[in-house]
Amino acid sequence: MRILLVNDDGILAPGLSALHEAVADMGEVTVVAPETPQSAAGRSLTLHGPIVCNHVHVGGEFHGVSVAGRPVDCVKLAIRELMDEKPDLVLSGINAGENVGVNVFYSGTVAAGAEGALFGIPSVAFSLACTGEMDFHRAGQLCREVLDNLLAAQIARGELVNVNIPALSQSSPRGVRVAPQSTAAVSETYHRKVDADGRMIFRLDGNFEHGPQETETDVTALADGFITVTPLMSDMTDRNRLGHFQQCQWD
Ligand code: MN
Repeated sequence: MRILLVNDDGILAPGLSALHEAVADMGEVTVVAPETPQSAAGRSLTLHGPIVCNHVHVGGEFHGVSVAGRPVDCVKLAIRELMDEKPDLVLSGINAGENVGVNVFYSGTVAAGAEGALFGIPSVAFSLACTGEMDFHRAGQLCREVLDNLLAAQIARGELVNVNIPALSQSSPRGVRVAPQSTAAVSETYHRKVDADGRMIFRLDGNFEHGPQETETDVTALADGFITVTPLMSDMTDRNRLGHFQQCQWD
């Protein structure tokens, strides 16, 4: 099996090494990852200017290509330019910090997986909930268990699955929940100050709260200590509203 491994935290991130270690025996693993951290890059890509790539050897563990660009650049370049053949699987992560709820839209980790799915390749994004000390090694083993189950369940061509590992402890994870993405808005805070030249300067506070959850979602299941598995779609069309607008008078 040919596996493309990407992330958004950068090619030196411990989560990438952990995922590499966890899947290395599955086949031929190609690592193409951003040179610098690209969290919350979402699906942006480098349109103007050169994209410099370098062959790197990371920590005596693996070879890879670092890309001075976005997570999506990495997937496009890997598939179109750097790999001899298209991968059978795109894996993204393990991200340092969970990607549930509306954060899925901003995540570079999920975006890299989404790009793989657009190429028709089964893709999985992995993230680990933020805690003081993050055990990426154990998270990697859990990601591998989930991945084996996903492959057994026949993850489809062009499908993206978003996987989140909860904060790890002796009693966590409590199991696996297949749950829908929450789209409840988050409450967030910008800190404002005015500098000596009178300019307003804002900084987004990293602490935010997900809005109220009416039913079980990726947000609630993860907070309850479960590994969450959420299949995502590339097609953003609202099928319910499509018919309504098609029946409207347009001339
Ligand atoms: Mn990240």
